[in-house]
Amino acid sequence: MKKRLELLEQLQEIDLQLDSLKNSQNGLHGEINGIDHELDASREELAGLETRVSQLTQEKGDLEGSLATEQENIRRSESHMKEIKTNKEFQAIGREISAARKLTTELEEQALQRIGQIEELSAEIATKSANLAELEKNVVQRREEKLTEIAAIQQDIDADLVRREEITTTLPASLIKRYNSLREQRRGQAVAFARDGYCLGCNMNLPPQLYNSLFKGDDMISCPHCQRVLILKQQQG
Ligand SMILES: [Zn+2]
Repeated sequence: MKKRLELLEQLQEIDLQLDSLKNSQNGLHGEINGIDHELDASREELAGLETRVSQLTQEKGDLEGSLATEQENIRRSESHMKEIKTNKEFQAIGREISAARKLTTELEEQALQRIGQIEELSAEIATKSANLAELEKNVVQRREEKLTEIAAIQQDIDADLVRREEITTTLPASLIKRYNSLREQRRGQAVAFARDGYCLGCNMNLPPQLYNSLFKGDDMISCPHCQRVLILKQQQG
């Protein structure tokens, strides 16, 4: 029975190592996804800025068009003024001109505002394009590095799986089944050490009689609190 417990302990060590290796792999896959997301987000942001600039350019063009029309109207009204006979007509055209001038001032202001916004956004686009280019340049290499790490971890996993197989074929199937279901229920830990009357799996006090029977080492004993298979460890480590 002692031999079985030793094998179970080894199995637990291998499985915990496998858990940690798989975690590392998942982490690396997550990092690769993160790189891809970063790239997508960066491209999307840039596309958004470019759309905004073309909107503003369109608006600026429209404003300048309206401005040219208004200025032309003013010129026409001013030349028309020379031919005017009545005071009433003169006043009416004067009002038209001053309204058109007010409008041109507003149009000019709005066009200038667009120009300012376009300049600001263009500067932002230049910076972000440069960042994106840098990111795109690095992304291939960064992804390769992660994939190399994942492959290296896979080698360790494969080696552990071979060792695991050697152990599980030695132990009875019913024990492996119990071990596996305990591992599922107990956050990956099916085996717990017992020391100084305690189960180190759940830190609960073990009944003295049960604890004493561990010294005989001839039975598979479970912790009454967490159900883990107990292995006596009197010395640290
Ligand atoms: Zn316990």
